[in-house]
Amino acid sequence: MADRAAMLAELGQEIVTCRHCALAATRTQAVPGEGPVNARIMFIGEGPGEQEDRSGRPFVGAAGQFLNRLLAQAGLRREDIYITNIVKCRPPRNRDPQPGEAAACRPYLDAQIALLTPRVICLLGKPATHTLLSPGASMGKVHGVPQEVEGIIYVPLYHPAAALHQPSLEAVLVQDMERLKHFLAATE
Ligand code: URA
Repeated sequence: MADRAAMLAELGQEIVTCRHCALAATRTQAVPGEGPVNARIMFIGEGPGEQEDRSGRPFVGAAGQFLNRLLAQAGLRREDIYITNIVKCRPPRNRDPQPGEAAACRPYLDAQIALLTPRVICLLGKPATHTLLSPGASMGKVHGVPQEVEGIIYVPLYHPAAALHQPSLEAVLVQDMERLKHFLAATE
């Protein structure tokens, strides 16, 4: 445990000095992720936004505030889960991460997953779902449905930022979090 925590911290240090893709040139700071090394549940978003880029912490802006409410609704404490992103540096003007950027950052994400060995990974939005579960999948089809792959249960969810802009998605996301709560209770 102590070793894994140290390795996770070391990985975080590597990430904050990374210059493997062009996002390094425009970031204020990289955002490795946060949460305990013994987290059983991981949430993976798209990439840091403006406030995350400024603070160095994931999901602290408007989408993060909404995520906090959704977590509470699912009976989860933010302090108990690990939260990170597909890319650790902010894409300019919050555009989608490009495939080359996601590929450059992938070894960090893989190392985080390998260290944490989470039981459940919630994929927030299309880039996370496409990168880690099913390239090309329609969120309309896969959202809220747990899928087990090699011992990890992936749960694709709409991204809280998308739901903030589209009230119909917000209701779906709230419903999916309710399903997640029941699923987690039955999986314990
Ligand atoms: N959106 C994301 O995908 N990640 C963050 O950290 C913040 C907003």
